[in-house]
Amino acid sequence: MTRLSATIVGGGIFGLWQAYELARRGHDVTLYEAMSEAETGGASRFAGAMLAPYCEAEGAEPIVQELGVRGLALWRKAVPQIVMNGSLVVAASRDQGELARFARMTEGHRAIDGSTLGELEPELGGRFGRALWYPDEGHMEPRLVLAFLMGEIRRLGGTLHFGSAVPTPVWRAGSDGGVVIDCRGLAAREDLPTLRGVRGEMAVLRSREVKLTRPIRLLHPRFALYVVPWSDNRYMIGATVIEREDAGPVTVRSALDLLGTAYALHPGFGEAEILELSAGVRPAFPDNVPRIVAKGRRLLVNGAFRHGYLLAPVMAEIAATYLETGATHPILDVD
Ligand SMILES: Cc1cc2nc3c(=O)[nH]c(=O)nc-3n(C[C@H](O)[C@H](O)[C@H](O)COP(=O)(O)OP(=O)(O)OC[C@H]3O[C@@H](n4cnc5c(N)ncnc54)[C@H](O)[C@@H]3O)c2cc1C
Repeated sequence: MTRLSATIVGGGIFGLWQAYELARRGHDVTLYEAMSEAETGGASRFAGAMLAPYCEAEGAEPIVQELGVRGLALWRKAVPQIVMNGSLVVAASRDQGELARFARMTEGHRAIDGSTLGELEPELGGRFGRALWYPDEGHMEPRLVLAFLMGEIRRLGGTLHFGSAVPTPVWRAGSDGGVVIDCRGLAAREDLPTLRGVRGEMAVLRSREVKLTRPIRLLHPRFALYVVPWSDNRYMIGATVIEREDAGPVTVRSALDLLGTAYALHPGFGEAEILELSAGVRPAFPDNVPRIVAKGRRLLVNGAFRHGYLLAPVMAEIAATYLETGATHPILDVD
């Protein structure tokens, strides 16, 4: 096999996985990221990092679940820290219609009653009479995983450059017969005219009173928000989905929705500390399915929408296989 020389632009979850996969396969890898190492990742810094192919199918094209199941398997092989204890979906008693609809729209779940819910999450047992349990889903902490991947890329001999944006003409020209993989997220819009940004707001809380061990979605007719347990008694509350492209401060309405969801799920969150209220902008194509666009020796890997963590490994697998063998895939367009 010919050893490739790959330049990756963008150190979000897509770019880091592209670099990791190629380095793992024995290729030369150099990644350039505009931000500092501590701040790398645009949307990727604000994700919940739920690996939820079945739950996400509720509002996504079928291919997202198909790719997501593969993505989850690749994560499990690469990163031992992934928590694989499933996820839960609950609704208030007045919103049971939402729970029934969610069950109809998704696979991979078991309908459970309040006492089984109490075995899984003792602090929720008395609060909800029914739930959906998705035992084969996972989650992780995004900023720890970004750092883990950077360490792995270096261990495999890759080079990472932080703190300076690569001027477009430099990498567009390609590098001496090598390949260039553009993972700039929304910044690649001038090359991908249908790409748009979808704002997502999130909160990070710290609570010593609340003990939850897996992601939990609380359905509501107006929105479906969730709580993801992180380390050190922290919980990520996410995420709004707003058709706007600014990553400016979180609005009062969104903060009320996020914090209200946490409190409705578990009143113990009333005493939690608010550590962070942030917004990220997800890059998305019109159908919210990611794509790889091949233009000669340049690949653009983009459009992760709500599924960047879930799908990053499988996007990297498809791109690396294409570069090595020319094999195509339904989500790979050769321009
Ligand atoms: C609140 C929220 C919650 C989410 N929850 C989940 C979840 O639970 N599960 C899930 O799978 N997904 C989730 N997502 C979606 C996920 O975060 C995104 O799909 C993903 O982060 C997109 O990754 P990316 O690498 O394509 O883009 P980005 O993370 O935006 O990275 C692009 C990078 O390119 C860099 N860059 C841009 N231009 C240049 C240049 N010229 N030179 C060098 N570098 C450049 C940027 O600085 C940035 O670091 C969530 C998103 C949000 C906002």
